[in-house]
Order: sequence, then C-alpha cells, then structure tokens
Amino acid sequence: MSAPDKTCPSARCAPGNQLLGVKGSDGHLRHLRSSMTIDADFVETASARGKPEARMRFSSPCATSGCAQWTGSRCGVIDHVLEHLDQARVPLADHLPPCPIRASCRWFDQTGETACRACSMVITDQSAIAAE
Ligand code: SF4
Repeated sequence: MSAPDKTCPSARCAPGNQLLGVKGSDGHLRHLRSSMTIDADFVETASARGKPEARMRFSSPCATSGCAQWTGSRCGVIDHVLEHLDQARVPLADHLPPCPIRASCRWFDQTGETACRACSMVITDQSAIAAE
C-alpha cells in the first residue's frame, strides 16, 4: 500500500497547485528554492502564452489510483523518463538540483537520487512543444 501523502512533481497548472520550477533557455528546468502556491490569476496569465506545462513544472498531492500514470503500485512517469534517457544515452546530471519537495516527492520516494538527476530534463507537456 503506497503512502497517500506523496507529492506529484509533474502536475497540471491549476489553482491550489504549486509552482516547482521554470524551464531555462537550455530547455532544462530550474527548480525554485521554495515552491509557490498558484491561484486562478496565475493560471490565466500563464495560459495566455500557451500551455504553462510546456514552460514550467507544478506539484500537487499525488493522486495514486486517481491518475492515469499510476501503474497500480507506483508512478509510471519517472520510469518511462529514465528508460528513455538510458536508451538515448543521455547522461544524467551529476548533481541534485535544489528542490522544495524532495521530502515528499513521489519520484524521489520511488527511485531516489537517480530521479533527481533526470528531473530537470522532464517537461510535463511535450505536446505543447511539438505544436510550437
Ligand atoms: S525527482 Fe528529485 S528534484 Fe525532481 S521534484 Fe522530485 S525530489 Fe525534486
């Protein structure tokens, strides 16, 4: 049985969720030192320039079985990311980014520091990028 108190590090841009980081000019995420709760005004403003999930990452309580990415026992997203990076021979970062949610992060809980070394390469909404 998984703990119900984990945090999803790849959530939607929605009121009440938290801003986790912003994509830099190199395409990698810059994690914030402390997360910031977003409201409806933030969502509206951020959405005016296209899908916020293509430029920022957000966190929220992990929904476990209420999320399509839940495999039944874990989040499938980070497993897919690590598999893809391994197949593409993309090296993981050699350091852990500062992160405001590490103590409760679902990916860190599952995969430990390996997840953190790949984390800055994860963009939640790849479809928005493809459409740009
Ligand atoms: S995987 Fe690591 S760096 Fe990424 S959100 Fe979770 S704790 Fe933070």
